Amino acid sequence: MIPMVNLKAQYAEIKEEIEFGLAQTIDNCTFILGPNVQAFEQETAAYLGVKHAIGVASGTDALHLALLAEGIGEGDEVITTAFTFIATAEAIKYVGAVPVFVDIDPKTFNICPEAITKAITPKTKAIMPVHLFGQPADMGKISAICQQHQLKLIEDCCQSFGARINGKQTGAIGSSAGYSFFPSKNLGAFGDGGLVVTDCDETAAMLRQLRNHGSNVRYYHDVVGYNSRLDEMQAVILRAKLKRIDQYNQARRRVAHRYSALMADLPLTTPYEDGLGEHVYHQYTLLSEHREDVLQALQAAQIGCAVYYPVPLHQQNVFKQECAGVHLPVTEAVAATCFSLPICPFLADESIEKIVGVIRDRLQA
Ligand SMILES: *Cc1c(COP(=O)(O)O)cnc(C)c1O
Repeated sequence: MIPMVNLKAQYAEIKEEIEFGLAQTIDNCTFILGPNVQAFEQETAAYLGVKHAIGVASGTDALHLALLAEGIGEGDEVITTAFTFIATAEAIKYVGAVPVFVDIDPKTFNICPEAITKAITPKTKAIMPVHLFGQPADMGKISAICQQHQLKLIEDCCQSFGARINGKQTGAIGSSAGYSFFPSKNLGAFGDGGLVVTDCDETAAMLRQLRNHGSNVRYYHDVVGYNSRLDEMQAVILRAKLKRIDQYNQARRRVAHRYSALMADLPLTTPYEDGLGEHVYHQYTLLSEHREDVLQALQAAQIGCAVYYPVPLHQQNVFKQECAGVHLPVTEAVAATCFSLPICPFLADESIEKIVGVIRDRLQA
């Protein structure tokens, strides 16, 4: 049995450090916004090269609160991709704004800058690119569009922790960015968690209020806020993993390149790196006309596999009605043929070879 993500192997390496930190938290009873959350915020801000990092309860909340803090609201249009996890668009809906879905690049699966330009209207207030599967979106072009049209740029970095573009982190380019620490993400907690980053002092102050019941001083409330704090115990776990994140991402890249080398002669489309940024391979995603056959063979061999994402957002029941008439040919074609293989820093060479062997046997049968 080969799982999509081997969290057990990762835990074995950091067990002692985490057990020590958790025991200390329990001894000290510092459960809410304690010293580990504070330290983690400082450490991530330094690592990501941003002025402020604010821990929140999930990646979904990170995007929601970022939109609120940036002043996006009722009737505003936010241009984004339909080839992403639902939370990207949910966050836009939570603030009363309208997600405007545009097509993706057929090679990187990231939002297409030319499609963004065509979708801008007087109501457009923000662009929310997703660095899908860990590959940075074309931030050079997207930043230029935002500058030209005076739009907010809010990055969905839920799959791209540690991915750099010319030495700069994804998340450090937009006006703000949201990260997820869902257990299977590149940087994963042992439960839910998230982070918002920004260089703007006012946005950061608003985010700190919003995540804690609209309050800066206990029992004094300035705005209607939320209960959305990063949990102290999760911060202990995240601090241990943050120290090793570059090493983990490097190992993911190694696994991905090994897969691609072994499958170079197969009738499949392996991931394309556009070289604009560093891919951290949150997922290793391929295209095949024979997807169902390949998935069946992998399942029969007890190898983890998944389809991210089978139904693009504009075709989901929740958005079908408001997106009637929206056609995204590239997104739809990719969703019909994509599938993802197990990837994590601890995937052994023999496992990679076994997985490729199963795919090869099926495609060459
Ligand atoms: C995981 C994910 C989210 C949501 O994060 P949660 O922590 O699960 O709320 C948002 N956007 C993308 C692209 C994601 O992959």
